[in-house]
Amino acid sequence: MSGFTEPAKKHLGQNFLHDHGVIANIVLAINPQPGDAIVEIGPGQGALTFPLLKKHGALTAIEFDRDLHAPLQAAAQAHGTLHLIEGDVLGVDFSALAAQRGDAHGQIRLVGNLPYNLSSPILFHALDHAAAIRDMHFMLQKEVVERMAAGPGSKVYGRLSVMLQAYCAVTPLFIVPPGAFKPAPKVDSAVVRLVPKPQAAIGVAHPPSFANVVRAAFGQRRKTLRNALQGVADSAHIEAAGLRPDARAEQVEVAGFVRLANLLAAN
Ligand code: SAM
Repeated sequence: MSGFTEPAKKHLGQNFLHDHGVIANIVLAINPQPGDAIVEIGPGQGALTFPLLKKHGALTAIEFDRDLHAPLQAAAQAHGTLHLIEGDVLGVDFSALAAQRGDAHGQIRLVGNLPYNLSSPILFHALDHAAAIRDMHFMLQKEVVERMAAGPGSKVYGRLSVMLQAYCAVTPLFIVPPGAFKPAPKVDSAVVRLVPKPQAAIGVAHPPSFANVVRAAFGQRRKTLRNALQGVADSAHIEAAGLRPDARAEQVEVAGFVRLANLLAAN
């Protein structure tokens, strides 16, 4: 009998996967290989954890809900070795974890059906440790995946798109309907793959300046760059970066933000 007796907790974003076809497709997409160091965010009742353990033998998982810790540990024993970190994923230093438990290159592979209320903070937390992460496979709200992958000119192209695409290749994989979860969320979901770029391919000279420019540019997305970036960059800087001061942030490609931020950081 399952030791998971607590009802799903809405405030922890608990929508548990129960569709075996979807679970199998996620495991296929992750495609664990010998030597990989897989870290799951929010194992919940083990819907992904146990199939991954069966395939891979060992796994680290980070779960906040203390009611799930003992049943997870108990049920995992039948499938493999679960190293459970009991706490908030936002407090976990992925770089330290990768140094301690990473693969031969000192990297981890992050996976998870994320708590949707924490999607953006988790994505930005992962970006802070991108060099320690080989890749990420996440289930998120479909609308969030669309924003992550959007390009200039799209209505949903914004800060999340630029920040993620500057550091990672973003590939939406497949859509998952509400009925795959219990309880069913109100929205469609989607699985996305993020692969951090090698340091040399990123080209961001000073990450805090880059984050600052992108935040300011999209803070008032209806405004022109000249107006939105007041106090951050003037028209001469914007032009020197090859951008038009009367353009809006939603028209500027990722490389344009990188050029502008690098120019500002150098001055
Ligand atoms: N992986 C399971 C599945 O697919 O059925 C559960 C997914 S559920 C959408 C999200 C999980 O993240 C829940 O188990 C929840 O308790 C956990 N969680 C929520 N906030 C968390 C946090 N700050 N740190 C770690 N885990 C968290």
